[in-house]
Amino acid sequence: MSGLEQSIDGEVWIRLGSFLGILLLMLLWEQLSPRRVALPQRAWRRTNNLLLVIVNALLVKIIMPFGAVALAFYAQQQQWGLLNHVELPLWLSLMIAIVLLDMLIYWQHRLFHVIKPLWRLHQVHHADMDYDTTTGLRFHPIEIILSMLIKFGAIILLGPVAMAVLIFELMLNGSAMFNHGNIRLSLKLDRPLRWLIVTPDMHRIHHSIHRHEADSNYGFALAIWDRLFGSYQTEPQEGQVNMRFGVKYQQDFQQTSGLWALLKMPFTLNPPMKKDDD
Ligand SMILES: [Zn+2]
Ligand SMILES: [Zn+2]
Repeated sequence: MSGLEQSIDGEVWIRLGSFLGILLLMLLWEQLSPRRVALPQRAWRRTNNLLLVIVNALLVKIIMPFGAVALAFYAQQQQWGLLNHVELPLWLSLMIAIVLLDMLIYWQHRLFHVIKPLWRLHQVHHADMDYDTTTGLRFHPIEIILSMLIKFGAIILLGPVAMAVLIFELMLNGSAMFNHGNIRLSLKLDRPLRWLIVTPDMHRIHHSIHRHEADSNYGFALAIWDRLFGSYQTEPQEGQVNMRFGVKYQQDFQQTSGLWALLKMPFTLNPPMKKDDD
């Protein structure tokens, strides 16, 4: 389709720079001030999680002919979407788009927990038996592609400016690396921050081995959605330092950490019919 090749100047470098900068910062922070003692074989886990990121980036490049920012430009040209039909100051239009896209991610995430075939994909994110900044990047490629298609639908309906889409994608990527961080943040800082953004102590609960805890704190960037829609949990029952991660029905380290194991997991690891809770 012509008209879908527009981009923001330097977009590739902005994305890559932001990703690598935040990743390195988080790895350093985890090294200097960890919240918990990491599991053995951390290097293996992290390497495979990051290999999955590379596989995903390559696959998306091959499969998706254009990205969300290009689609936002195209929607603007075609006058598609609500925001392309109202006159608003740029700052307000940016804010509305970013907040609504973030809410969409919240509901999409809840959906991936409820619908079984979607959970088979999303369990790849949850099966990680430890929790650090690389966990935040660990998603099955099919989940990534589905998320992109959902986002495309939202862009066509909402009509956000292209800059809002870029800021949103950078924010989501950055906050995923931040809130999966195995980093120490003082409670004095964590608690007030939790009213605004999702902190590591808040999202860590979402990775609990106990399903009723994994089915809480779905937010990725803005913290309000869990409080607003009744899925907020303050602390895990076993405490932040002792809580265990992963899915209860697959606790084999090799089966939950190797690249090939992660890629085939949606097809080979069948979650139990009944949610295993206690
Ligand atoms: Zn989840
Ligand atoms: Zn997560």
